[in-house]
Amino acid sequence: MFCTVCGMTLQSPYQEFCYNCGSKILNQLFENTPGLMAVAIISSDGLPILSTLPKGSDETQVAAISSALLSIAERALIEIEKGEIEHLLVNSNEGYLIALKAGPNAILTISTTKDARIGLVLLDCIHVCNKISELLKKGK
Ligand SMILES: [Zn+2]
Repeated sequence: MFCTVCGMTLQSPYQEFCYNCGSKILNQLFENTPGLMAVAIISSDGLPILSTLPKGSDETQVAAISSALLSIAERALIEIEKGEIEHLLVNSNEGYLIALKAGPNAILTISTTKDARIGLVLLDCIHVCNKISELLKKGK
């Protein structure tokens, strides 16, 4: 397996791009998005690809739970015939958690501070999801 961006050999069969190339995408997101606290890119089967989570967070757990949450939300929408999911927004007393699909093969999960502008954060997330989706397509 090789990185779809720079061609470097990859360590894990789950990866589609190397840590450096993935980090560049995540860093861009951090630079452009005020209030962003943590980001994780997750494969559609719930395995972590890349993340910047707070110390003490279990990347594997976060990945599995995000993927499960998103698929439960999708099921709910199907049951009430309310179209296709665009994103999942969880509002806590300390901020927001957003999960959205990054193409058919990945999920992006992020957390923000309470005062983050969710509309802008979502736009940035959609932009990054499109990028991730393009990268993963190249690898197929
Ligand atoms: Zn690379």
